[in-house]
Amino acid sequence: MTGQVNRRVHEADSAVVDKAVRAARQAAPGWAALPVAERATWMRRLSEGIEARFDDLVAAEIADTGKPLEQTRTLDIPRGAANFRAFAEIAAQRPSEAFHLTDVLSYTVRRPLGVVAVVVPWNLPFLLMTWKLGPALVAGNTVVVKPSENTPGSAALFAQICADVGLPPGVVNVIHGYGTTGQLLVSHEGVDGVTFTGSTRTGSSIMKSVADRVKPISFELGGKNAGLVFADADLDRAVEGSVRSVFTNGGQVCLCTERLYVERPIFEEFCARLAEKAASVTPQPMISAEHREKVLSFYALARDEGAKFLTGGGAPEGPGYFVEPTVVTGLPESSRFNREEIFGPVCHVSPFDTEGEAVALANDSDYGLAATLWTTSLDRAHRVAQRLEAGLVWVNTWYLRDLRTPFGGVKLSGIGREGGTQSLDFYSEPTTITIKLESADE
Ligand code: NAD
Repeated sequence: MTGQVNRRVHEADSAVVDKAVRAARQAAPGWAALPVAERATWMRRLSEGIEARFDDLVAAEIADTGKPLEQTRTLDIPRGAANFRAFAEIAAQRPSEAFHLTDVLSYTVRRPLGVVAVVVPWNLPFLLMTWKLGPALVAGNTVVVKPSENTPGSAALFAQICADVGLPPGVVNVIHGYGTTGQLLVSHEGVDGVTFTGSTRTGSSIMKSVADRVKPISFELGGKNAGLVFADADLDRAVEGSVRSVFTNGGQVCLCTERLYVERPIFEEFCARLAEKAASVTPQPMISAEHREKVLSFYALARDEGAKFLTGGGAPEGPGYFVEPTVVTGLPESSRFNREEIFGPVCHVSPFDTEGEAVALANDSDYGLAATLWTTSLDRAHRVAQRLEAGLVWVNTWYLRDLRTPFGGVKLSGIGREGGTQSLDFYSEPTTITIKLESADE
């Protein structure tokens, strides 16, 4: 985030990828054979291992990303520990399915996929990695993880934590590298399934890499999330909540709002208050020079297309890949600014006149990850939420998560759902066993 080198990691070539996959394959039968309660105990040990290295993990995550200390201490690293605990509980308490007709009994057993490739991005490196590892491991899979080339630190430390708590060798393997390493991993014939969080473009490329072997895939991809603010909203909450949903982590969260639609009677007041708050948000560095250039190119595009900047629009002087928190208005829906994921501290605000128009505007996107709506009408909240084409809808809040609920997106935002039993379903395959019961001679 400043261009300075803070650590060096080894770039895995095909020989290293092969070694990691072989290690995972070797460990797979033994790990899968453990009772689920025992694997759940390992998950709790990993969680304790994370807590024991809490400060080191916080430091590694901040050195790689430039995140604020407060967010890293209260969200990124604690959620990592919570992910292992949550999936230990969910898996240990999960009932199996059975269907019983008079003379037919069917029941389902679930088997792990085997070796799972875990490929993750740079924006919430530890949180997103552990969100996949918890369910994959407790379901009985072994894993090869490839963190982003931008953020190898917390994953490298996590590999050490696995060794420190005595996890059997080969169950978790961490390799580093660019997209080329990721591609070697996902297409390796020893990999049985792929779980990926990252951009839609990379997701599409991975899909092609695994097509020949028809490997199961779980994809959490990009977003272009809408926020709807109705005139009956609690304006203080709507402004405060929108500031969070646009600017958290410098806008580098897949769930961040980039398109705000505000009912016309409160449009001017909402814009003025949002811009005022946005101007006081402390800028956070973008992950890389390249990403900063991308965000700034969208600011330039908005300027070229005649947008009105309510605040921001530039980059502060000095070291670090900072850009200004920015609010713009006045662009058509067809602008690339309103259609493509920018992934920076920026949103566009437009007015709307009717509920139907608001829903249509929100749904007019190639993406469908998350949406947020602000209203005090209970009827409207339910009515609108159910019409939004998004995997996640928040009402009068944002990024409030119960880890048992399905998480993921529709359209270009992904395939499948993570969270709770949905994760466990992806990381295992059911076999249905059906028995014909003969009636006893009376
Ligand atoms: P990215 O797609 O560039 O990279 C993600 C990972 O994939 C990295 O580890 C990268 O090295 C690897 N990779 C790149 N090319 C590959 C290939 N051909 N085969 C295999 N692996 C390859 O994404 P990013 O820039 O790191 O992350 C930002 C993106 O992630 C944004 O689009 C954001 O919306 C998305 N994201 C989505 C969610 C979600 O839950 N839906 C969460 C966080 C981030």
